[in-house]
Amino acid sequence: MSTLSQIIQEVDTVYQWLDEQLARMDSSCRACGDCCDFEAFGHKLYITTPELMYFQHLVGGPVKSMTTGVCPYRIDGKCTVYPYRFSGCRIFSCKGNAEKENALCEQAISKFKTVCDKHRIPYNYVYLQAGLEMVSSAPDFKMKNSKSPRPWDAVLGPTQLDIFCSPSERVAVVHEELV
Ligand code: SF4
Ligand code: SF4
Repeated sequence: MSTLSQIIQEVDTVYQWLDEQLARMDSSCRACGDCCDFEAFGHKLYITTPELMYFQHLVGGPVKSMTTGVCPYRIDGKCTVYPYRFSGCRIFSCKGNAEKENALCEQAISKFKTVCDKHRIPYNYVYLQAGLEMVSSAPDFKMKNSKSPRPWDAVLGPTQLDIFCSPSERVAVVHEELV
């Protein structure tokens, strides 16, 4: 199995674990898509490097840029990449328990950090817009077809991405904004 295949598999395992945890929490998300309009909703979504790699690999085609305050994958109010959505998309619920979501977020982040450490991927935790922009605008970030075993090394330096915060801060901010 290639390194990329392993990473994809490991991210998938984190998502499966996450979905199992979320099934035990009563988040009552009706998938209305409102919170995917970040600007209108006052919501922020942060994503990690391995999630971006998983996303690009499985969604296929050019990754869309986020040119407005709305996730470009929300079309007609619905998520068009639902099976591949990010951990933040899965965890956040406007009706959820912020404390439990924070804890889950920290656990998921820890698992993604472990994936990064294992495969020597630079760990980044960035705003969705910055992450999508990085992948869509960086010609070297083509993992599906690249012959290089680690093409992401060239484009994922920590200095390229300047929007960082901890998962707890993010979820806490989101819930503060909704109160
Ligand atoms: S990936 Fe899907 S769930 Fe996540 S913000 Fe975009 S439209 Fe919403
Ligand atoms: S978390 Fe709330 S706003 Fe977001 S999709 Fe679910 S029900 Fe809609």
